[in-house]
Amino acid sequence: MDFRLSYGIDMIKCDLLIRDTSVMDGYAGIMTHMDISIQDGMILGVCPHNGTDYEAADQISGRDMLFMPGLTDCHMHTGQQLLKGQVLDEEPIIWTRVMLPFESTLTPEKMRLSAESAALEMIHGGTTGFVEAGSYFMEEAAAVYRESGLRAALSCSTMDAEGLPAPIAMDAKEAVAMTDRLYADWNGKGNLKVYYALRALNACSDELIRLVGEHGAERRTMIQAHMNEYPGEVEEAYKRWGMAPYEYLERAGILSERFLGAHSLILSAREKELIARYGAAVCHCPFSNCGKAAPETPDLLKQGIVPGFGTDGGAHGGLSLWNEMRIFRSVMQLVFGVPERNSRIMPAEQIFRMMYEGGAAALDEKGRVGRIEAGYRADLIGIDLNVPSMQPCSRMIRTLFECGSEAAVKDMIVNGKILMHSREIRTLDEERIVYELKNRMKQRNS
Ligand SMILES: [Zn+2]
Repeated sequence: MDFRLSYGIDMIKCDLLIRDTSVMDGYAGIMTHMDISIQDGMILGVCPHNGTDYEAADQISGRDMLFMPGLTDCHMHTGQQLLKGQVLDEEPIIWTRVMLPFESTLTPEKMRLSAESAALEMIHGGTTGFVEAGSYFMEEAAAVYRESGLRAALSCSTMDAEGLPAPIAMDAKEAVAMTDRLYADWNGKGNLKVYYALRALNACSDELIRLVGEHGAERRTMIQAHMNEYPGEVEEAYKRWGMAPYEYLERAGILSERFLGAHSLILSAREKELIARYGAAVCHCPFSNCGKAAPETPDLLKQGIVPGFGTDGGAHGGLSLWNEMRIFRSVMQLVFGVPERNSRIMPAEQIFRMMYEGGAAALDEKGRVGRIEAGYRADLIGIDLNVPSMQPCSRMIRTLFECGSEAAVKDMIVNGKILMHSREIRTLDEERIVYELKNRMKQRNS
């Protein structure tokens, strides 16, 4: 399409123009002195500064800044946001001692505040899109996330295991009906999608797994689950079905491009082959995973599987994907690099590729998010190159990887809309939310 036709010979009309900035080019390069034009939520073009005349409704100066695609959190838990600081260094088993009792006492009010808190943290941290792993009262969270402007895929916590605390105990039909309602009310509203979820296979009956598969397929939406995270969970699958978890998913007809397996740490050769063949999405959560196992990512990449990254929620080291990428590199270096004397087992550009390609797959947006190129969705963040941590910046991609953090994220645009400019969030009342969070802690401590 020739956009010039709409506004004279050399004048291009756009909603937003970022002028004279550096731009991340793919995963390894940087272009300098560029203009990024945005129209109808999409990137219209990336052109040399002053090479084209624009008629822009709004403008941002990109001087001393670098624009890069926004980060994607492929696995986070809104319902654990208020558990920050209460999981670290705790005795096992955290799931039954801390997580389950806490989640079973969630209320609509707590979920609203949790989502507000998570949205603030993500916007400041440069996370433009995320996959919520499944919680309760998700309609409260959905309303907040829609207002925030973030790109999100939301799920309900879905399990029907025996012995769950009374407030969250339910049978298979009730469990799947929760997501049916969330899907009907919120899928496609603003930047929101709704996915079906299996909390973990060992917390779900065969009937529930079957129902989730059917309901997800009918609506052509993604299905997600915590997968292959603990040795005991994998052993249980062999005892229960005589096969590995991903093999069972294949037999149940759930494994496809529309499946997202979080963690995916302990995988058999056959399971890796299945994930690659079906094109399923996977992600790792490095901070959280460090207590369990190191994923065999070099082997996954060789097989064409590109995992994304998740934080596993605020209670596992916060929602910083910058931290997750650096922890991941350290683990890969120690476990796979050192024995081979290979200092480039997982170079920065490879990790950025995982962030963006794995993130796009998890959001079911392959080829539509994760690059600053014409035709991609306008989900991007502006990095302030004047902050001390970003200088000196001799090799931009490596410096970005080593020193990038929420301190450097200055602007955020999602679907063409400015959510944060000069560190000021436009879509949520940050002062009120932080006040409420502090007040909540005072009440708890008094
Ligand atoms: Zn999780």
